[in-house]
Amino acid sequence: MNFDTTNDQEDFISKVDSVCTSLRSFEEECYIQDKVNEKLVPEFSKIGMLGCPISKEYGGLGYDILTYCKTLERIGEEGNSMRTFFSVHTSIGQMVLQGWADGDQKKRYLPATTSGKSIMAFALTEPEAGSDPSSMNSRYEDIGESYLLTGKKHWIGNGTIANVITTYARDKTTGKISAFIVDMNSSGVTKNEVKNKMGLLTIKNAQINFEGCRIPKQNLLGDVGQGLNIAYSALIDGRLSVAAGCIGVMKDCLNETLQHTKSRRQHGSLLAKKQLIQQHISRIVIGIESSKWLTYRAACARQKLHDYVEQFKLEQVGWQSKLNRNNRAYSNLRNEANKLTAIAKFHATNTAFDCANRSVQVFGSFGYLKTARVAKHFLDSRATMIYEGANEVLELKIASGVLGDSFKAY
Ligand SMILES: Cc1cc2nc3c(=O)[nH]c(=O)nc-3n(C[C@H](O)[C@H](O)[C@H](O)COP(=O)(O)OP(=O)(O)OC[C@H]3O[C@@H](n4cnc5c(N)ncnc54)[C@H](O)[C@@H]3O)c2cc1C
Repeated sequence: MNFDTTNDQEDFISKVDSVCTSLRSFEEECYIQDKVNEKLVPEFSKIGMLGCPISKEYGGLGYDILTYCKTLERIGEEGNSMRTFFSVHTSIGQMVLQGWADGDQKKRYLPATTSGKSIMAFALTEPEAGSDPSSMNSRYEDIGESYLLTGKKHWIGNGTIANVITTYARDKTTGKISAFIVDMNSSGVTKNEVKNKMGLLTIKNAQINFEGCRIPKQNLLGDVGQGLNIAYSALIDGRLSVAAGCIGVMKDCLNETLQHTKSRRQHGSLLAKKQLIQQHISRIVIGIESSKWLTYRAACARQKLHDYVEQFKLEQVGWQSKLNRNNRAYSNLRNEANKLTAIAKFHATNTAFDCANRSVQVFGSFGYLKTARVAKHFLDSRATMIYEGANEVLELKIASGVLGDSFKAY
C-alpha cells in the first residue's frame, strides 16, 4: 500500500500549511473569546481548500481522499475546532452531495460550496435520537409538489452559519426515512446556538427546528427510503476526517511538549531528561505513528469505494437504488471502508485525548491555562470520542463486522 504523495499534492499541503500558520494567532484569539473564526472561510477559500476532494467539474480541486486526509492532519495541528469546520462542510457536507446527489442537484449546490459562498452542515442527530438515528422523530409528508418537514435536529456543527444542509426525516405514513437537501433560508427553518460547550469554541453548533418547512421535490436526496443508507455512508467520511485531524492534534502536542521539556528545569536538570517524562513523550509518538497508519489505510479503503461507486454511476441508470447490500462488490468495499474508518476513528480519538492529557501533565500548571495549546487540545479531543459515532458504538460495530450481523449488539 502506497501512502506517498506526489509533488503536486505536496505543494497543496504546503499551501494549507501556510494558511494554518498565518491563522494561528487569530484562531487562538477567537478560541479564548469563544467566537467563530471569521477569517477561516475567506483564507482557505483562496487556496481552494473548501473544495479539496470535490470534483473539478463543480469547482473543487479533485484531490484524492488520502491527500485530503493529509490536509486535515495539518489543520488538526491548529486544533479540532478548526478541523471540525472542514469535517462538517466537506466530509459530511459536500461529499454527501458528491456521492448521492443527481446531476442537477450537484450543479445547483456544489459550485457555491467549493468557492466558499455557501457553507454546508449535516443534520442527523435529534434530542431523543443520538447513537440510534433510526429512532428519529422528524417527520415529512408528501404534499404533491413538495414535502412538508417538521422536527428538531440537535448539535449541528456549522449550524449557525450554514446556508445549505442535508437532513433526514421519516415519512409520516410509511415510516420510511429519506434524505433532503434544505436551504437554510427556507420558511419554517429556525436555529438556536448550543451554548456553554466545553471546547471546540471556534465552531458553533445549533439546534435546527423545522416547522412545516416546504422542501421542493427536486431536493429529495437519493431515493425515497434511502435516508439512513446515505447518512451512514456520510459517517464513513466523517470518521475518517476526525481520525486524520487527531493525528495533527497529537503532532502539535508532541511539538509543544518537546519545546517545554527542553527548556524547563526542575530538580537540577531539564524535564526532557527525566525518565517518566520520556515515557509521556514516547506514548505521544506511538499515538501519532499508530494512528497515521490506521488512518492512511482507511483512506485507501475509502478511495477504493469511491472509485467503484463513480464507475458504477457511469454505467448504471438508476444507480441510487442499485447501490445496496445486494450488490456484492459494493457491499464488500463499503464494509471494509466502514470497518477501517471506525477502527481509525476509535484509535486516533482515544490516543489524541490520552496524548493531550499527557501533555497537560508534562506542562504542569502551565498546561492548566485555557491559553495553553495543550489545554485546548485536551478539551477539544474529548468531543471526538462522542461525535461521528460514539466510541462505544464503534466498538460494537467493529465486533459485529467480524461476528456477523446477527450478533449486532447496538
Ligand atoms: C461537539 C459535537 C458536535 C456534533 N456535531 C453534530 C453534527 O454536525 N451533526 C449531527 O447530526 N450530530 C452532531 N453531534 C451529535 C453526535 O453525533 C451525538 O452526540 C452522538 O451520536 C451521540 O449521541 P448522544 O449524544 O445522543 O448520546 P447517546 O446516544 O445518548 O449515548 C450516550 C452514551 O451511551 C453510549 N451508547 C449508546 N448506545 C449504546 C449501546 N447500544 N451500547 C453501549 N453504549 C451505548 C454512547 O456511546 C455514549 O457514550 C455532535 C455532538 C457533539 C458533542
